[in-house]
Amino acid sequence: MKEDCRALETIMVHGSKEKDEQTGTISMPIYQTATFSHRGLNQSTGYDYSRSENPTREELEKTIAKLEGGKSGFAFSTGMAAIDAVLRLFLPKDHVIVSEDLYGGTYRLFEKVYKKYGIEVDYVDTTDIEKIKAAVRKNTKAIFIETPSNPMMRVTDIEKIAAIAEPFKILTIVDNTFLTPYFQRPLSLGADIVIHSGTKFLGGHNDTLSGLVVANKFIEELKFTQTSTGAVLSPFDSWLILRGIKTLALRVEKQQENAIKLADWLRKCKNVNEVYYPGLKEHKGYDIAIKQATGFGSMISFTVVKKEFIEKVLKNLEIIYFAESLGGVESLITYPYLQTHAAIPEEMRNRIGVTDKLLRLSVGIENINDLIGDLDRALNF
Ligand SMILES: *Cc1c(COP(=O)(O)O)cnc(C)c1O
Repeated sequence: MKEDCRALETIMVHGSKEKDEQTGTISMPIYQTATFSHRGLNQSTGYDYSRSENPTREELEKTIAKLEGGKSGFAFSTGMAAIDAVLRLFLPKDHVIVSEDLYGGTYRLFEKVYKKYGIEVDYVDTTDIEKIKAAVRKNTKAIFIETPSNPMMRVTDIEKIAAIAEPFKILTIVDNTFLTPYFQRPLSLGADIVIHSGTKFLGGHNDTLSGLVVANKFIEELKFTQTSTGAVLSPFDSWLILRGIKTLALRVEKQQENAIKLADWLRKCKNVNEVYYPGLKEHKGYDIAIKQATGFGSMISFTVVKKEFIEKVLKNLEIIYFAESLGGVESLITYPYLQTHAAIPEEMRNRIGVTDKLLRLSVGIENINDLIGDLDRALNF
């Protein structure tokens, strides 16, 4: 069968290279080496030094590029390093429009690192197309979005953003961590660059940090930054992410199945006020989610009726761990107000909805009755 016709699940299992040509190993070997010998002057094997290229990392980079349908992939030590590499495309006085509801670490990178170098940033509700149009300036170089957003699960119309951006040569950059290419492929909707925290769903086991970039533009610049600044993913961690990706389809389907049931259960819970999950018909982004993605994912945020309940809930949970991060097989719950989003000023947190009553749940693959039982014990005291 022609490779281009393969379904995503098949590419996930087989990767890009299929197997090591010399030995036929089914699992891509871990090329644990810093450097490579040359056969002679000007006779490189194609691999010189692992910061520039390493066969295990390359297999991951080619695999994620295939999955996202992009020209080139790049693997970094963390999601933040991946975002950092992309932001190095910009120069002082360049302007970037950013989703106002987004991962706290990304906000911190813009505010505390890149502003210092003269990058101008506006945080906008990117679900409101008119607000984006109004925010575009002469020096706007990119629109950076998370959809669904972290933690409020706001859904941004990627196609519409790309249509605003493209005529002005503004880049559309999408953090696709929450849905993965299995559910959403931003490049096919007109985006130029996709970013992942591979730490989350792609790795999937809460055991490895990593970041990935897939780009259709600025490929040489990104490669140059990756080699020059050196925040590359190690061969072993590249292998772990490759292994995670093999089961991505099964995991995210099961996680979503659990999440749909949990969102519905939470809606009916007397101590819960709002439930934010794009798979609920009453969710504001439901129609766009249906249009641009093939799934809703497994991230749910919800508010409890009283702030005083938070401590109790977190203490009462036994199966669902109180921990940062998301996307893995283990269910995790976070308190964004004091954890992932603590870096965002109070005024902005309140405007977005990241209040002291909000909890964010990453649904794993445990048995659904055990998960409901755990939440029932914790919430219905
Ligand atoms: C976790 C996360 C990041 C940062 O990734 P790290 O691997 O923790 O550096 C960026 N964006 C989103 C949406 C995330 O959830």
